[in-house]
Amino acid sequence: MRTPVRPIDLASDRDPGFQAEVARASGQLLQSCYQCGNCTAGCVYTPDYDYPVHQVMRLVQLGLRERALGCRSLWLCATCQACTTRCPNDIDVARVMDVLRHMARQAGFAPEPGVKTFTDGFLASVAKHGRVFEAGLAAAFALKGGRPMQDASLGLPMLLRGKLSLSPHEPEGHGKAEVAAIFARFAKQGAGPGSSGEARRGGAAEDKK
Ligand code: SF4
Ligand code: SF4
Repeated sequence: MRTPVRPIDLASDRDPGFQAEVARASGQLLQSCYQCGNCTAGCVYTPDYDYPVHQVMRLVQLGLRERALGCRSLWLCATCQACTTRCPNDIDVARVMDVLRHMARQAGFAPEPGVKTFTDGFLASVAKHGRVFEAGLAAAFALKGGRPMQDASLGLPMLLRGKLSLSPHEPEGHGKAEVAAIFARFAKQGAGPGSSGEARRGGAAEDKK
């Protein structure tokens, strides 16, 4: 369900360089999108998005930076790539969504705070241990969400069945150092865990070369 937002004013809202910026970062020929809607037709999250994925593409084409980066859809996307496989113009739409989410994060947008909290926790766990420590992530997410007993009833059965460990299993050999190097590289770009800080906006804000 789309949140009511102010009408778009193309004269003042457009950022003429935005499409080129997204095209550079994603490596996709964004202007070849002709709004057929095939991507949206295959996206299982369309009913939950504020902007269906083909409209996200259109926001980018129009240079509506704030509207695109502030939309909830970026945070609900599951990166399933159904949109990518359905695009008749070979646009990797899922990659565009990834790039936009990355840009939104850097710009401090977080219209879905729960998703951001989980993502931050996941990244922090991988950065610290070299791979995710599920029990620690679940506990941190429940505590930060203010619901410490959330999913507690699932924890014990999972522990008893060996699906959860109470201690992290870090990668052997150079694995942990290699993962740390990836995080260090992204930290230089201001995109590491928690680098976006607190959300400064909430809710829907309003070339393959
Ligand atoms: S990758 Fe995201 S936008 Fe594309 S179909 Fe899957 S959930 Fe929808
Ligand atoms: S399927 Fe491709 S061309 Fe059609 S709307 Fe989506 S991105 Fe645009």
